[in-house]
Amino acid sequence: MSVIIVFILYLFLPVICDQDSNTSKIFDFEHKQDERSDNSNRSFKLVYEKAIGNDIPAYEMIKGSKKFEALIRNLESTFQLPSQITIKFKSIESLSPMYENGQVIIPYNFFNYYLNFVIASGYGKTGADKLSAVVNLTQFALFHELSHGIIEVLDIPFLGKEEHVVDGLTVLLATRFDIDVVPLTAVEIFELEAKVSDNTTASQMFWGKHSISKDRMDDILCLVQGSNEGPNKNLFADVNAVGVDKSPCCKEYERINENWSRVFGSALK
Ligand SMILES: [Zn+2]
Repeated sequence: MSVIIVFILYLFLPVICDQDSNTSKIFDFEHKQDERSDNSNRSFKLVYEKAIGNDIPAYEMIKGSKKFEALIRNLESTFQLPSQITIKFKSIESLSPMYENGQVIIPYNFFNYYLNFVIASGYGKTGADKLSAVVNLTQFALFHELSHGIIEVLDIPFLGKEEHVVDGLTVLLATRFDIDVVPLTAVEIFELEAKVSDNTTASQMFWGKHSISKDRMDDILCLVQGSNEGPNKNLFADVNAVGVDKSPCCKEYERINENWSRVFGSALK
């Protein structure tokens, strides 16, 4: 019975979301190519700093995933920023990703912590599941900190709670790059962690300092649902709650999509 309901909802969803399809393509940067061949005028720079000791396997897994080069290519073909943002993987003691002074810092330690966590928590069925989950979570952290950075270099004022604004941009970027699985995995891992954690975990430092709450996780999931785009959209048939009216999520996604497009203006290629 529930399968039938999900199927009916899935058939209905595009009708709801397509009502305002004129705005859904405003922030449309699919199929754009970056034609520049040199590095002189790039908006983003990716750096893997030399890994030390226990960070070496993390360095190899992160770089070996090739996900981050693909992400930079997508960003590069989307934005033309007035100053370059460097994304740096780094061997530092801190677990917490951060943005400061034009640099996104992702500690190898963040990756290590969450790889250990998903292994200990029994997440996933195979080692590959666990590794790809942590790579996804690392991409989410990168998107989040990068969103802080993009907003700063474009001198965009916050109208609303900073972390909620950043979450919206994070989901918009991930869904537009057809990696809906990135925010979905992040919420899944943070929810799992919330069930088993004490108050000294990385998520308390990364997620907690940004006042994470169940509301914020729900908002992220709602936006991903509302995106209704990309090859991963069928994921919603699995993660959604049967009977939930998706229309507000579609409208919210459209609203955020349109607003960011207007705010970014000429910074979009
Ligand atoms: Zn933040």
